[in-house]
Amino acid sequence: MPVPQPIRPDGAGATDFGPRDVMRDLENPDLLVPPATDAGLIPNLRYSFSDTHMQLNHGGWSREITSRELPIATTLAGVNMRLTPGGVRELHWHQQAEWSYMILGSARITAVDQNGRNFIADVGPGDLWYFPPGVPHSIQGLEDGCEFLLVFDDGAFSDLNTLSISDWFAHTPRDVLSANFGVPESAFRDFPREQVYIYQCSVPGPIDSDRVESPYGTVPQSFKYRLLAQPPLITPGGSVRIVDSTNFPASVAIAAALVQLEPGAMRELHWHPNNDEWQYYLTGQARMTVFAGNGAARTFDYRAGDVGYVPFAYGHYIQNTGTEAVWFLEMFKSARFEDVSLNQWMALTPRELVASNLNAGPELLDALRKQKWPVVKYPDSSFKPNPTL
Ligand code: MN
Ligand code: MN
Repeated sequence: MPVPQPIRPDGAGATDFGPRDVMRDLENPDLLVPPATDAGLIPNLRYSFSDTHMQLNHGGWSREITSRELPIATTLAGVNMRLTPGGVRELHWHQQAEWSYMILGSARITAVDQNGRNFIADVGPGDLWYFPPGVPHSIQGLEDGCEFLLVFDDGAFSDLNTLSISDWFAHTPRDVLSANFGVPESAFRDFPREQVYIYQCSVPGPIDSDRVESPYGTVPQSFKYRLLAQPPLITPGGSVRIVDSTNFPASVAIAAALVQLEPGAMRELHWHPNNDEWQYYLTGQARMTVFAGNGAARTFDYRAGDVGYVPFAYGHYIQNTGTEAVWFLEMFKSARFEDVSLNQWMALTPRELVASNLNAGPELLDALRKQKWPVVKYPDSSFKPNPTL
């Protein structure tokens, strides 16, 4: 592969003698040679999990992208976690809501709410879970172990700084523990001296063997949702599944869309009228240009394992630039998924106004009239409206 150089087709730029990281330049063609339409001072909107600290424990690992790694990402933070078969993310709770997507493998999750209602379930690939703020919970890898993404509704969150059961016991006087549980202090002799976080345990038995009958019943709204089981909205360039409090009632703080873009397809020009967007790329390669107004726009390249971010209301698109499907999650600190399509806005505005504003000719105006506004499309517009949209 030729070494890429920061030179535009019109000759602007010059070769880079080095020092340079050619691998990174190859991964970021739109940073090395930005589209000529890029301009202004938009801050960094991409961070890779490969550039984060790895917390390695017996039983699994975790790494996180928070506002420390990506300063603009103030609304949400993300954790990528792996648990071995039997590996446990210990009993804990936190001030933030937790939303999660199971990438691979399966886990058993448990929680108990403020009314003593419990929740014990197994989750597999494409399943979500949601734990409200303050509700204590745990995660344990099943036979094949698992890897998942956790998302929290606070950019400053750290999964290494939660309230853990082991940490609390380690920092409570033994006589108080003895009085609380009505057992001698010696019962706590072998308890951990610090936060356990992740530990190796044996694989639990079938879910029925782990069942605990609460006199108060189970949580009224399930903390689990099977996102991949949801029939997708099929569009000419891919598919989308939307999940928010309307179809996953427990998830009042975080809304999401799971988007699939076929090679050559794009998520159309749009923005979100409710909040910032936090993205996680599951597969493939993509690029996104973010438009901030006042002449400012910046383009980034993304690949599997990257996090992207779009500030509230900034215009953007996402284009599949690779040869395999791009799957990504877009997430919002919101009860509802909301988006505004540029095409839809223009199509539902008086034709003469759009024409005079942009000097638009009949070709564009006629195309707008036929739009059905899918969220994913092929840019070449070999586009057949789907009557179900
Ligand atoms: Mn948690
Ligand atoms: Mn978006």
